[in-house]
Amino acid sequence: MLPESEINRVLVVTAHPDDADFGSAGSVALFVDKGVEVTYLLVTDGDAGGNERTLDNSGMAELRRKEQLAAAKAVGVADVRFLGYPDGQVVPSLELRRAIARVIRQVRPDLVITHHPDRNYQFIAPSHPDHRAVGGATLDAVYPDARNPYAFPELIKEEGLEAWTVREVWLNGGSTPNHWVDITESMDRKLAALQSHVSQVSHVEGFTDFVRSRFAAWAEQAGLGEGRYAEGFQVVPTA
Ligand SMILES: [Zn+2]
Repeated sequence: MLPESEINRVLVVTAHPDDADFGSAGSVALFVDKGVEVTYLLVTDGDAGGNERTLDNSGMAELRRKEQLAAAKAVGVADVRFLGYPDGQVVPSLELRRAIARVIRQVRPDLVITHHPDRNYQFIAPSHPDHRAVGGATLDAVYPDARNPYAFPELIKEEGLEAWTVREVWLNGGSTPNHWVDITESMDRKLAALQSHVSQVSHVEGFTDFVRSRFAAWAEQAGLGEGRYAEGFQVVPTA
C-alpha cells in the first residue's frame, strides 16, 4: 500500500450527494487532520433523491448541492465540484471518463476514493447503477486516461492539463474489502456530515444508531474490537 506519508492529495469521486459521507467521510476527516488536501467530485446533484417531493428536480439539485457543501465542511473539505449529470442515468461513457480525467489532471491526487464498480451480491444497497457506472468510469479515468498524454489530447492542447498517474485507488461498497480505517476518533464528524443531508436523513427514525451500529460491525469484522468504528475499502494499486 501507499505509505501514509506519501499521500498529500486525495480525490473522492462519487455519484450522489451523501455517498462520500456514508462511504469515506471518517477516513477523509483523518486525512484532513494530517494536512492532506481533499477534493470531492460529484457526478450528479442527486436530483432524483429525497423523500417528500415538494421540490422539482432542479430545486432538489440546488438543495442537495448545498447539503453536500455543508457535509464537506463538517469534515474539513472546502473543494467540492459537481459535474451535473442527471441522477439515475449515469453510464460509464467516454464523455464521463474525460470529465473525471480532467479533474484528476487538475487536482493531481496520490489517492482516489470511489465506488466499487461490481455489483455486491451480499448487500445490494451500495450497488446502485450510478455508483457502478461512476466506479467504472473513475477506474478507467485513472488507468489509462489521466496518465496517457494521447488520451483526450484536447485536455493538453486546449486546457494545458498534463498527464497524471494516480498511484492508488480505494473502492467502497464492494464485497471484498481488504483495508480498514479505524474512524473512532472522527465518527462524530462523520455523523455530522451525514446529518447535513437533511432532505435524505432527517425523516429516518434511529438514523444515528443505525449508522453507529453499521460502522461498529465493520470494526468488529476488522478485528478492532468493541466500541470502535471502521470504514472498509478494497485497495487497488494503480502506480
Ligand atoms: Zn449514491
